[in-house]
Amino acid sequence: MTHGAYDGLIATPKKINDFVDGEDERASSKSRKGVRLWRKLKYQLIEYNSLPAYMRDNEFILGYYRADWPLKQIFLSIFSIHNETLNVWTHLIGFFLFLFLTIYTAMRAPMVVDFNSVQDLSEMIGKADLNMIRLDLLKCLASLPNMPEILKLNDLSESLYSLDFSSLSGWTLVELLTNCLPEQFSLNGLKGDMNMVSPLMQPITRWPFYAFLGGAMFCLLASSACHLLTCHSQRLSYIMLRIDYAGIAALIATSFYPPVYYSFMCNPFFCYLYLGFITLMGITTIVFSLLPFFQKSEFRKYRASLFFLMGFSGVAPIIHKLILHKHQPEALQTTGYEILMGVLYSLGALIYVTRIPERWMPGKFDIAGHSHQLFHILVVAGAYTHYHDGLIYLRWRDSQGC
Ligand SMILES: [Zn+2]
Repeated sequence: MTHGAYDGLIATPKKINDFVDGEDERASSKSRKGVRLWRKLKYQLIEYNSLPAYMRDNEFILGYYRADWPLKQIFLSIFSIHNETLNVWTHLIGFFLFLFLTIYTAMRAPMVVDFNSVQDLSEMIGKADLNMIRLDLLKCLASLPNMPEILKLNDLSESLYSLDFSSLSGWTLVELLTNCLPEQFSLNGLKGDMNMVSPLMQPITRWPFYAFLGGAMFCLLASSACHLLTCHSQRLSYIMLRIDYAGIAALIATSFYPPVYYSFMCNPFFCYLYLGFITLMGITTIVFSLLPFFQKSEFRKYRASLFFLMGFSGVAPIIHKLILHKHQPEALQTTGYEILMGVLYSLGALIYVTRIPERWMPGKFDIAGHSHQLFHILVVAGAYTHYHDGLIYLRWRDSQGC
């Protein structure tokens, strides 16, 4: 079986093909390794000096840059460490915070109202048949598993016996009344003697408050996406930076809506004058930011000034509000929040322009602690302060109307 013994050595077309394929495989496995190595090198973080011109923005951040990466690597880089990681996350977390606040506020829509005083309500109840109400309420107390202050039942019973409602929070009382006496107290349509509660229970329009929450979410998400994606290409960087500026303008403009609307809702002329002005200013800023020269790094100061000017124009309606409502404690309270917000935003703008602290120690704050991250945190803090400001306006107007 000589033939058979040499069988394995005889070249057949099939073997030649297999051999060539094997060569191919070895060659392609080498080239695959080469590609992988190249990719590894290619997606290494680089230094400021190696950056393409469109990415050179802050010469005090020396390293940990991603540049010209494909989108897949960019999206994966959200979970890796580079000099934009914290910029992305500070505003992404801010976005989710505001998303939560929006859902929370919407679910508890009328419940954000917490009457500081229930004197008015006590007065109104005073007009009704007190003994009847008291007996009905006392009977009903035990069957209220959902009362948030169920542990205070003793206080409640005492309050009912003495008919002194001042120790109860407004909502505890209203909830008790609506649960126990649905006939007389219905949130949708109050009947009989008790329809005096109605004006207190009608929440005023919410759109200015939600416009602000929407503006804040848009700004935070746009900013986060911008920091993640600008390193992809010059084209995407150009688009994302514009969306980012539009987001900042939207946040500033919509921040005016709750204070202006709720302060001047009984003076439509000033209400629409201020709202129109700030909306126009926001649109102008967005249009300006579409112009190509606007993103050059030497225009950093002008960029910040334009946004600062926009925010600063809020001083006029705030002073006007203080004059108009000088006897309202809420006017002072909201002004306090608005000043705090102004301080946080201004401090953010100042840090953004001066690029402190990285200018003092270039390269030391590349990953954590550089000016842009501090600016982001101050923006979220400012917007969160403004959310509380908005809640005070809602309480004020819900309880007092116009
Ligand atoms: Zn940013």
